[in-house]
Amino acid sequence: MQPKTRQPLRTVTRRNAGAIRLTADPRGRRTLTLPLGAPEDAAAQFLAGWREGAAWQEPPASSTEDEASTLARLWAGRLGIGTPSVGFFRDPWRWGLCRWQEGAVLLNESLLRLPPQVLEEALLHELEHFRVHDHSPQFWREMTVWLPDWPLREGQLRGWASAHRGRKTPG
Ligand SMILES: [Zn+2]
Repeated sequence: MQPKTRQPLRTVTRRNAGAIRLTADPRGRRTLTLPLGAPEDAAAQFLAGWREGAAWQEPPASSTEDEASTLARLWAGRLGIGTPSVGFFRDPWRWGLCRWQEGAVLLNESLLRLPPQVLEEALLHELEHFRVHDHSPQFWREMTVWLPDWPLREGQLRGWASAHRGRKTPG
């Protein structure tokens, strides 16, 4: 058996990327893709979060649908948008959807079983789409103003999903 060697990590920045993505090719070469507009320390935050999330056996806390709705009301006030309705769906790939035209956000119900800071980041991502509809640098700059550690929280989510659900990086 070959000793496990740590492959160097390549970092690329892409305009309009919908999330931070960590991928590996069949030879184990890893690439971290960052959206243009992400904070300077996004890669370090994301990787630290990934390691934490991957190590969670049972996630240490969870939330109710009511708590998610309360959080959405709170953040809608800060963002200066109308209070959205919050619904839930099951999907193996997507974490959230924003229907800003209808005043609604939809979240993957798995988020309720993850720590509240992870739910909050996914929720804020969808709420921010009420302000900026795409994933332009402006979107990520505003995300960083509201929640400077969003890359860490996203890393926790993706690390957990990768370790426990066999998922890659659903957007
Ligand atoms: Zn988005």
